[in-house]
Parts: sequence; C-alpha cells; structure tokens
Amino acid sequence: MIGLLGGTFDPIHFGHLRPALEIRDALGLDELRFLPCRIPPHRGTPRESAQTRAALVAQALADEAGFALDRRELGREGPSYTVDTLESFRAELGAQVGLCWIMGRDAFNGLPKWHRPHDVLRLAHIVVAQRPGEEGEPGAALAEMIAGRVSESLTELTQQPAGCVAFVDVTQLAISATMIREALARGQSARFLVPERVWETIRAEGLYGWKNAATEAANS
Ligand code: ATP
Repeated sequence: MIGLLGGTFDPIHFGHLRPALEIRDALGLDELRFLPCRIPPHRGTPRESAQTRAALVAQALADEAGFALDRRELGREGPSYTVDTLESFRAELGAQVGLCWIMGRDAFNGLPKWHRPHDVLRLAHIVVAQRPGEEGEPGAALAEMIAGRVSESLTELTQQPAGCVAFVDVTQLAISATMIREALARGQSARFLVPERVWETIRAEGLYGWKNAATEAANS
C-alpha cells in the first residue's frame, strides 16, 4: 500500500513529517510519497516557487527509508487537482494497488469543495490525521460523503484498494507553514520547527524574507 501526502509545503515542517512517519508505521505502508503542488487550487500563490519548495522537501526526506519526493504535480499545467494526481497513479500502478491519500483534519474538512471529490474517494482511501485546533464533527456535506466508508480498524484498508476513510491518532504538533513564514519574515528563527538541513537552506538562500528581516533587525 502506498501513502500520498500532498501539500503546498511552503515550507515543509515537522508537523508534516512526524504525522507522516506515524501513519506510515500504523498502516504498514510500503512507501510514502510527498507531492508538492505547483498551483494550490484553494488558496493564494505560495511564497516560494514550486522548485524551491520541492527542493526543501527533498532535503527533509533525505534520510528516511520509504519516504520519497514525487514531482508529478510540478510539471502539470493549471491547478494541482488531487483527482488528476490519483488518476495518474492509477494509470501507472493499475487498479489493485492500495492508495492512501493522507491529509490533516483541516484539509479533510474542505473535501466537499474539492474538484470531483467523489472520484477522489473512488480512486484512493482517505487517511485523516488529527491536527491541533481542528476538532469537532464533520459538516453535513462531508458527513454524507463519508457515510458508510469510515473504517473501524486500519486493517480494513488493506482489504480493498480505495474507498475507505480512516482517522489516525498522531502526535499533535501545533506547527503550520504560516507561522513559520511569519516568523521568518520577522527575522525569527525556524530552528527545531523544520529539519536542520531545511533551516540551513532557508538561511543560506534567504528564503521567506529571512535574510532581509534578520539584517534589518541587526541594523536597527
Ligand atoms: P499553511 O500554514 O501554509 O496553510 P500547512 O502547515 O497547513 O500550511 P500544507 O502544506 O498546507 O501545510 O499541508 C499539507 C498537508 O499536511 C495538509 O493535509 C495539512 O492538513 C497537513 N498538515 C500540515 N501541518 C500539519 C500538522 N501540524 N499536523 C497534522 N497535519 C498537518
């Protein structure tokens, strides 16, 4: 079974990585692919380019067996719709391989507004990681969409290639890329929120306005 974690990753942080590792182990995934999007469909333009965001993802994953960067959304024109990504995996891997589309609870709550959400569920399982500040019951449209699909046990996901919804308890890390971008823009450190190599690249290349903000702070 293959896990897929899509995101803007602007930048990647430990709130992506640790839950991903725990989900990989809980589900016994053979592989977990990280898919940075080129153009996020439901939000503003990312701060850094797709190539830069992907390079940071590659650095973050470098040492973890079974974690891999997947660049397929970067080369595709237009918004990076998950359903198109899943169709490309099915074309490559066939109908029988188990696919798990992983997302945080905030992203899951927005699922009914996605492009062709029913096809997303037809093509993959959906695995939801709880995220701090995102508790509560699903709204009516989401509840209807997942009715009869929620798995009591994670082993159910191994019995069919797609179509189940599973909630996985993960270590709660109240880290977001937004808070990291804001800290960097103020010249504050992102150390210990992101992997050390990612932090080194952000500093060396002055990403997210860090260099300018840090220089201004030193000069004031
Ligand atoms: P931003 O603050 O820019 O919105 P983000 O931190 O939410 O970014 P994304 O790249 O948008 O990061 O997230 C990719 C996926 O990872 C989404 O499904 C999101 O819900 C999930 N995710 C991000 N941060 C966490 C976290 N701290 N805990 C659990 N899931 C997370």
